Amino acid sequence: MKKQLKPKKFISQLKIQQKVRSIAKKISSDYKKSKTKKLLVVGILKGSIIFLSDLVRQITIPCEIDFIALSSYSGIKTTGVVRQLLDLRESPVGKDILIVEDIVDTGYTLKYLKENLLTRKPKSVKICVLLDKIECRKVNIDIDYKGFVIPNKFVVGYGLDCNEMYRNLPYVAALK
Ligand code: 5GP
Repeated sequence: MKKQLKPKKFISQLKIQQKVRSIAKKISSDYKKSKTKKLLVVGILKGSIIFLSDLVRQITIPCEIDFIALSSYSGIKTTGVVRQLLDLRESPVGKDILIVEDIVDTGYTLKYLKENLLTRKPKSVKICVLLDKIECRKVNIDIDYKGFVIPNKFVVGYGLDCNEMYRNLPYVAALK
C-alpha cells in the first residue's frame, strides 16, 4: 500500500504574519517614490492567493490586483515546461508590475513570466516571493522581495498545494 504523506509544521502563522508585514512596509515605501503611481500587483494562480491577499492588505499605497495562471508542476514534481492557463485582464502598459508568487524553485516560472510581461510595455517589473528554494535554482532570476529561504523540501499550506490539497493550512508545512 502507498504510504500517506503527512504535513509537519515548518513555518508558523506568526512568523509568516511578521514577514508579510515587513515585506509590505518595504514595498509601500519603495513604490511611494514611483512617478507612475500605478502599481499593478499580479498574483500567480493558484498558489499565491493567500500570500497576496495578506500582503495587499498591508500595502499602504493604492494598487490594482490581477491574476495570471501558470503551471509547471504535476503532483510533487516540476515538469520544467511552463504553461500559461489564464492571462491578465488589466493592461500592464505604463504600470509598475509587482509579481507575487508563493515559491521559487528552479526559477523557470518567474523567468518566463517576467520576460513575457516585459514585452508588454510596463514601466517596471519586480518579483516578490514568500519562499525561496535557492539551492534548486536552474536559471538566473532576481528576486526583489523575499520572505524565507528554505531547503529543498516539498512544502504545502498557506496557498501551496499537493494535488490541490492543503492550500488552506494557515502555516507552511513540509510533507513527510
Ligand atoms: P519553478 O518554476 O521555480 O521551478 O517552480 C515554481 C512553481 O512550482 C511554484 O509556483 C509552485 O507552484 C511549484 N512549487 C515549487 N516548489 C514547490 C513546493 O515545495 N511545494 C509546492 N506545493 N509547490 C512547489
